[in-house]
Amino acid sequence: MVSTESAPSSVSTDRSVPLIALRGICKHYGGSGGQPEVTVLRGIDLDIHAGEFVAVVGSSGSGKSTLMNILGCLDRPSQGSYHFQGQDVGQLDADALAWLRREAFGFVFQGYHLIASETAQENVEMPAIYAGVSKEARMQRAQSLLNRLGLNTRLHNRPHQLSGGQQQRVSIARALMNGGSVILADEPTGALDSQSGAEVMALLNELADAGHTILLITHDRSVAAQARRVIEIHDGRIVSDSQSRHTADQAAAPAQPLTIPTAKDAPHQTATASWWADLLEAARSAWRGMVVNRVRTSLTLLGIVIGVASVIVMLAIGEGARRQVVERMGTMGTAILYMGSKPPATGGPAGQLTEEDLQAVRELPEIRRVLPVIGDPVTVRYGSADKQLYVFAASEEMPAVHHWSVAQGRFYTQAEDHDLAPLVVLGHKAWKHFFPDTPNPLGKQLIIGNSAFEVIGVMSERGADSGAQDYDDMVFIPYNAGRARVYQSQTQPDYVVVEAMSSTQVHAAETAMRQLLIARHGGREDFGIGNAAARIQAEAATRKSMAMMLGLIAAVSLVVGGIGVMNVMLMTVKERTREIGIRMAVGARQRDILRQFLTEASLVTLVGGSVGLLVGLAVGAVLIAAEVAVVFSMRAMLGAFACAVITGLIFGYKPAQTAARLDPVRALAGE
Ligand code: ADP
Ligand code: MG
Repeated sequence: MVSTESAPSSVSTDRSVPLIALRGICKHYGGSGGQPEVTVLRGIDLDIHAGEFVAVVGSSGSGKSTLMNILGCLDRPSQGSYHFQGQDVGQLDADALAWLRREAFGFVFQGYHLIASETAQENVEMPAIYAGVSKEARMQRAQSLLNRLGLNTRLHNRPHQLSGGQQQRVSIARALMNGGSVILADEPTGALDSQSGAEVMALLNELADAGHTILLITHDRSVAAQARRVIEIHDGRIVSDSQSRHTADQAAAPAQPLTIPTAKDAPHQTATASWWADLLEAARSAWRGMVVNRVRTSLTLLGIVIGVASVIVMLAIGEGARRQVVERMGTMGTAILYMGSKPPATGGPAGQLTEEDLQAVRELPEIRRVLPVIGDPVTVRYGSADKQLYVFAASEEMPAVHHWSVAQGRFYTQAEDHDLAPLVVLGHKAWKHFFPDTPNPLGKQLIIGNSAFEVIGVMSERGADSGAQDYDDMVFIPYNAGRARVYQSQTQPDYVVVEAMSSTQVHAAETAMRQLLIARHGGREDFGIGNAAARIQAEAATRKSMAMMLGLIAAVSLVVGGIGVMNVMLMTVKERTREIGIRMAVGARQRDILRQFLTEASLVTLVGGSVGLLVGLAVGAVLIAAEVAVVFSMRAMLGAFACAVITGLIFGYKPAQTAARLDPVRALAGE
């Protein structure tokens, strides 16, 4: 049944060098931290040659498992030497030991030690994964091994769906996956009924016939009697050794000793070729782990989702608020000052802002434009319709000062203003009011006050977002025509809009204007200057710091999410100590374990980050529907996403390292 294909790929043919040579092996436990020292092995000398079928028998607690763990390089002796094929195992580093476990040994345990979340076939494939065998090849080999062990209908069952005998056969298939020249079986029949136990023993016998070296550990003499050499161990010492014919039937043992790689040699495969395959494999098993632990996974995910979503939403709100201010700056400019006459603080009448005053201000080097304005509600009529409207009389510079454009027709010119031309430009709402059915109102006559004005243009719509939507209700007429035909009693402008050369010169412009006008008004400050630009700038700064604060809060929630990842990963490591032990027993190196757990952490954060991104966008969409100013930026989204993944890696590293540094024996014991 188990044919030559699964025979040991290589064992030493040199009969004089034992495959395994133990000299004076001792093992103590405790002895530090106030615990009493326990001596479990007391000087074991043992030679095992390739192809032998050895049973180690002894009562419970005699040290059999301890011996096997040392033989299988899961544990190191406290004293004594262990040579494998003449090479001192004590000199090997962790990677070389992992290599030996992977390539030379196959473990069969009493408790099977299968990974619960993986199928039978995946469990069998595992040693080949760490050996870097291609997916195709290892699937085929796992299937053929399971076939020959009579499990062809059980390939995709998980361990809990298999009987004890079946699980043990899966674990034997796993032991054979990489060749299994030395099978170390610790009480393989201990948990099985007699029928299944007999099957397993028959299997081991066949393997021995096929040339595998087999070390069977048992407390049961009748089981031990089925081996070809029986060693009895009592209280950590070998008390008898049948020394049976180890040189007998070993025809099947092929040549080529195993060469244990040093750290410099690339074992079994080139590392780069399988890098991607390894990552995929790690991602697959990480995904499996996430699905199996749904509740825990979704709680961790929730933390990250909230973190990422809040970063995205808060940054979007912050950006929206910032844009609003920028837009307002766009409508009013960042360099606008207002000026008007006002009674001085010291008492007395308000001053007059004369044409000459304005001309003098206009000539200041810090000033770009000066726009005197007269505006009041006036009755405006068209045909039989009339309405009180704010009639805004200003020079032809009005659109430039307000960063505003004409949608239809044109604005009046400086010449027309000078000539008192009776022209009017409508705000968007005013147009809709008087000419609801007339797309083109140009040329129509409006009666403003008592004079007729010809419509020559319509301004574009400012809209509700601009902070200047009132302007849509107004109509605009030339300053001089307004004074001559509508506001005849007016001797000076209601107020003057002054635009500084640039937003950085607003304060200088204010100071210069004040000094100039005080001088012109005989030392009296009978006017007021309002600095709208400074207000807007201050508001912009406030909003910016608000946005930063929102970002900070969001970042904190991301970090909290990261700590959640760490917590879950630490729990995962704890919960899966045994799994880690199994992986190490089948030959995983520390870096394999590290990579697996890091992959899991990043997968959790990747999935969490993606979901968070979607949730963030959804919340944003709701906010937009509720007319909150929200602006998503690609940079913020990518940033939040990247932060999540990096947080996952950083916080996942410690647990992954903890896992990788576990001691194989203790991990197997689930400690
Ligand atoms: P067997 O497999 O023969 O039943 P073990 O090798 O498992 O025996 O254990 C032999 C003895 O070593 C037992 O008395 C056990 O209590 C002790 N022992 C095993 N592992 C440890 C440990 N990690 N710390 C302390 N004592 C241990
Ligand atoms: Mg034991």
